[in-house]
Amino acid sequence: MIRQRPLAKREADKLADYLNESRQSRNRLVKRMQKLVANLAQISVQVRDRGLYHTMFSKGPATLDKTIRDIDQELKRHRMRPRLVAPWPNRFEFSWNGCYPIVLKIISLGEAGELWRVRQCRTCSRWFSADRRTNWSCSDKCRKRRYNATDKAKKLNRKRVRAYYERNYKSGRKGKQ
Ligand SMILES: [Zn+2]
Repeated sequence: MIRQRPLAKREADKLADYLNESRQSRNRLVKRMQKLVANLAQISVQVRDRGLYHTMFSKGPATLDKTIRDIDQELKRHRMRPRLVAPWPNRFEFSWNGCYPIVLKIISLGEAGELWRVRQCRTCSRWFSADRRTNWSCSDKCRKRRYNATDKAKKLNRKRVRAYYERNYKSGRKGKQ
């Protein structure tokens, strides 16, 4: 169980690194884990917007039902077997076998309420771990590029409005004079 913030951040970093992995041998599992994390993120947005009850039990949009089904189907593929690792005089150490460590990481981050950190950059699509909930870019470079894009769009829009105004409003007034 992950409780400490710095630890959660480190674990989130590791998960993001894993999701960026492009080695052929692991490719299929990586893709499945990307889907799982993305689906979980989608569900938490729904819960925030519609509440837990409506998300889980009422008939929602078909895409939402499919998201929940997909999450369950992915989780069902994994089996965990407890094993005794070390018997100490006062306690025992157990481990979970038969499950990919990456799935355990996703589960423990999810239980700790820290899975939101792991997200895809809205500019370059790389996976990264966020420090704040409002952070949607993997780097300063991407944040600036995103900002410039919206800034450019705003300027362009202003230009269009001015052109429209000059074309229709100003010339119309001139016509009346
Ligand atoms: Zn990026």
